[in-house]
Amino acid sequence: MNTRNVIIIGSGPAGLTAALYSGRANLSPLVIEGLEAGGQLMMTTLVENWPGNRDGIMGPDLMTEMRAQAEKFGAEIIQNHVVSVDCSSSPFVVKTADAEYTTRSLIVATGASARLLGLPSERTLMGHGVSTCATCDGYFFRGLEIAVVGGGDSAMEEANFLTKFASKVTLIHRRDSFRASKIMQDKVRANPKIEILTNAIVLEIKDTGKGEVTGIVVQDVASGTVKEIPVAGVFVAIGHTPNTALFKGQLELDAEGYVVTRDGAKTNLPGVFACGDVQDHTYRQAITAAGSGCMAALDAEHYLDGIPEHLHT
Ligand code: NAP
Repeated sequence: MNTRNVIIIGSGPAGLTAALYSGRANLSPLVIEGLEAGGQLMMTTLVENWPGNRDGIMGPDLMTEMRAQAEKFGAEIIQNHVVSVDCSSSPFVVKTADAEYTTRSLIVATGASARLLGLPSERTLMGHGVSTCATCDGYFFRGLEIAVVGGGDSAMEEANFLTKFASKVTLIHRRDSFRASKIMQDKVRANPKIEILTNAIVLEIKDTGKGEVTGIVVQDVASGTVKEIPVAGVFVAIGHTPNTALFKGQLELDAEGYVVTRDGAKTNLPGVFACGDVQDHTYRQAITAAGSGCMAALDAEHYLDGIPEHLHT
């Protein structure tokens, strides 16, 4: 079997930037796209904070460009997803449902998935008024009323942040107490633009027929009463899950399941690097993911330079 220099798992901004850099380094990287090709940006509309695109760029268009740019420099990108990885000895073994690959270095760029409420209307209206990223989409809701769902620090932070744009933010939480830190709760309670609605679950987001958000149907868990709150946007802030199931027991993960990186993109295993949201629960931006993808590629290149069987083919 032809052992690869680099396999990159994942095709969001981190994975494709790693592919671009390792392609330009003549390492002929193989990218295994994953089930959500292009990553979370495929679920957004206009990205206005990608440097160099003054008028913004649609998330899917940005990913199409990144993909083409990586391919231009020799990255091979396959539409498949990885079912198992064996990092116990070098070369590492990566399996998809129908193929097996070996590689001298591995870049983990599997991302994190925003947890969703699981409503069909939430899926349909994602990017059309429903968002999982206040930093990305808050600006579109200037002067409008919106809702934030969640009771952790993210929900508090997003609710506060969104009052910079929205005329009113209704914070909806399923229990009567928040798990967020007290200081974050205090900020929310002190913010006159935020109304707190506890013990409330979201039954539906309206209006799939119109293709835009016009309101949110909530139910009081104690009384069962159902009401509709008119809003133009819904921010789902109920946490993220890092996509690290493949690496449990192989790579060092933190308490929340994120890959631990240190000294750049290095994991605890020599030759295995991680970049993007799979190792970042703080910044979670396309640009920071891309930056860490660059770091992972440079670290992998440096690692390969130091092992005898490395082939620049
Ligand atoms: P989190 O702490 O796991 O909180 C998730 C929240 O969403 C919880 O309130 C949970 O409700 C709610 N939730 C989960 N599933 C739900 C569902 N299906 N329907 C309705 N509600 C649901 O996640 P996070 O807020 O993203 O924070 C993650 C980590 O990052 C935490 O350690 C947090 O402290 C940290 N963080 C820190 C900062 C900061 O310090 N500036 C900012 C953001 C995040 P229950 O409470 O009922 O379970």
